[in-house]
Amino acid sequence: MLQSRLFTKTKRESPKGEKSVNAILLQRAGFCYKEMAGVYTYLPLGLRVLRKIERIVREEMENVSGQEILMSVLQPKSLWLKTGRWKEGIGEVMYKCKGKEEIGLGPTHEEMLTDIVRNYIHSFEDLPVYIYQIQTKFRKEPRARSGLIRGREFEMKDLYSFHQSESDFKKYYKKVQKAYFKIFRRCGLKAILTEASGVGFTKGYTHEFQVLSAAGEDTIVYCPKGHFSQNKEVAKFQAGDNCPVCGEKLLQGKAIEVGNIFPLGVKYSQSIGAFFQDRDGKKKPIIMGCYGVGISRLMGAIVEVHHDGKGIIWPGSVSPFDVHLLSLQLSNKMSQREKLEKAAKKVYRILQKQNVDVLYDDRKNKSPGEKFADADLIGIPYRIVVSDRMLRKQSVEIKRRDKKIARFVKIKQLPAFLRKNLRLNKT
Ligand code: ATP
Ligand code: MG
Repeated sequence: MLQSRLFTKTKRESPKGEKSVNAILLQRAGFCYKEMAGVYTYLPLGLRVLRKIERIVREEMENVSGQEILMSVLQPKSLWLKTGRWKEGIGEVMYKCKGKEEIGLGPTHEEMLTDIVRNYIHSFEDLPVYIYQIQTKFRKEPRARSGLIRGREFEMKDLYSFHQSESDFKKYYKKVQKAYFKIFRRCGLKAILTEASGVGFTKGYTHEFQVLSAAGEDTIVYCPKGHFSQNKEVAKFQAGDNCPVCGEKLLQGKAIEVGNIFPLGVKYSQSIGAFFQDRDGKKKPIIMGCYGVGISRLMGAIVEVHHDGKGIIWPGSVSPFDVHLLSLQLSNKMSQREKLEKAAKKVYRILQKQNVDVLYDDRKNKSPGEKFADADLIGIPYRIVVSDRMLRKQSVEIKRRDKKIARFVKIKQLPAFLRKNLRLNKT
């Protein structure tokens, strides 16, 4: 893509009053446009990142046999009355509209999906099933001040599983845990499986996937070796205690909850009336689990973890582009400028031929300093520079966003170099 055609522009200044790092960088670099607190539009660069995160999540959901659907945002009040959540619990943060009848904007979809499934699942032979969607959710969050970390309108992946037995549910719950670790690793994040409140679903714990970050709104007590972690809200241990698994000293830290999985038991199937006939001929409520990933929150979390004083440092797997190509026009001579532009275009074509996603900064009115600053702000993992000096050596300069030192590669050797180095960063 040609940067000269990109309708968004970078901004030097931070948006007024904004304190959250991800909100500042994503707006300055032109990934997101803030409509109001907790409500964002995804601009071309931002949408590319969101789609890449979605792709990773989808692949891992397909790997655990998830079937994708897309439920409606508008939800009938009658369903929520059945579970008692219209006014209580999550119902308190539901946006409600009054038309002919009262409806809610979906903050989550247990009620709705259980009601759908009720119409199709009748026998133990129909179970288990795993159903997920990626969709915009709405919640009246009172403190939407941390950019994409807490939206009032945000994107979530929600998976729901339906089982005939507790043991079958438990096996799947473990399987999803593994898939979740993979999702977060592929997004360049280290997630910590954390025990959290049962929130009325279970006498035991639910499980959160927490990423350590000063921007986090949660506090966790965790084992630095990864054997144990509890949300401070329910923690039976504190920092300095010995890890109950390995004896290591526990630490405490701020963290961002990027995912949450819940054993739902029969809470929803019972109240909505989702029953199946078991082998023994008896009618039983379906055993359920649900599993959320904050897709847009992930985008914010990635920025919180991967940035420096100059801007974002995207992991290759979710970066809007693989390479940022910069042509630096230093000469005043028309012939030299044309020569450079031709060379840069050639490099652009070589990159495209290798299936490398390139943002080509072909802007004519920008100084090298401005181009470098924009490249650092936007944070694409590889920067390739074409300049007069490089051109004399038939070379380009390649620098990784997270490294200080640049390398020089002959234009002729560029395809081989890309094949060897770039592909490695794709997960
Ligand atoms: P939190 O405790 O942070 O408010 P939650 O426990 O209410 O979140 P869940 O209902 O478990 O959230 O939602 C599943 C996932 O969706 C969360 O793990 C989180 O990653 C994401 N999420 C929840 N609320 C928001 C929000 N307001 N903005 C962005 N992502 C969110
Ligand atoms: Mg949660």
